[in-house]
Amino acid sequence: MVQFFNAFLDFFFPPRCLICEKDIINAQPQGICEPCLSSIRYISSPICFKCGIPFNSGIGRDHLCGTCLTSRVYFTKARAVGFYEGVLQEAIHRLKYNRKTLLAKPLGALMMGYHLGSIDFKSYDFLIPVPLHFKRLRERGFNQALFLARYIGKRYGIPIDYMSLKRIKWESPQINLSKEERERNVKGVFSLPNESRFRDKSILLIDDVYTSGATVNECSRVLTKAETSRVDVLTLCRAV
Ligand SMILES: [Zn+2]
Ligand SMILES: [Zn+2]
Repeated sequence: MVQFFNAFLDFFFPPRCLICEKDIINAQPQGICEPCLSSIRYISSPICFKCGIPFNSGIGRDHLCGTCLTSRVYFTKARAVGFYEGVLQEAIHRLKYNRKTLLAKPLGALMMGYHLGSIDFKSYDFLIPVPLHFKRLRERGFNQALFLARYIGKRYGIPIDYMSLKRIKWESPQINLSKEERERNVKGVFSLPNESRFRDKSILLIDDVYTSGATVNECSRVLTKAETSRVDVLTLCRAV
């Protein structure tokens, strides 16, 4: 009966792509049309095996980038699906500012699907969405990172902890800041009052965009202080 009703709805009200708003003919994952999906510039090897930055040369094996060689990186690895541009940029904009929260499901599916081979999702004890400051949360009404984490958590039965790690300091916007300024900007921004909960646990941090990595690195620093066994990072896109 439900299937019949869905088919009826699809026939008279064909589903629209949540990004370009054209009728969807054949979509995988549902909610984003095929032309939008195929226009995404996906990130692929060779990348830095720590921070995931793609190397321009496009040839050779994955290796450590100059930044990861010379600076303190607290996560084990960070991975993203695609570049922060075009369809993915539009998707994040719609999710965050136009409250198109339905997008979280296909985007979460994309994050999981693209990394099935490179991330062992079942190995994590907790998924932690990068928290927003409560003022930002009140203003937006939801944390987009939590929405993205939900799909993966549900699929693998991994608990999502969105209460323990807290954003306690309001930082000035990070746009136009240098890498060093961003690092200084995020110092002391996060706190983790119940550290013992994470001892010897594997954590996957989830966020929408990886920019300089300063935010997720600071989250990872706070988490590793709690003697976690590993902190990895997964974002939808990467601003290179
Ligand atoms: Zn589309
Ligand atoms: Zn790197």
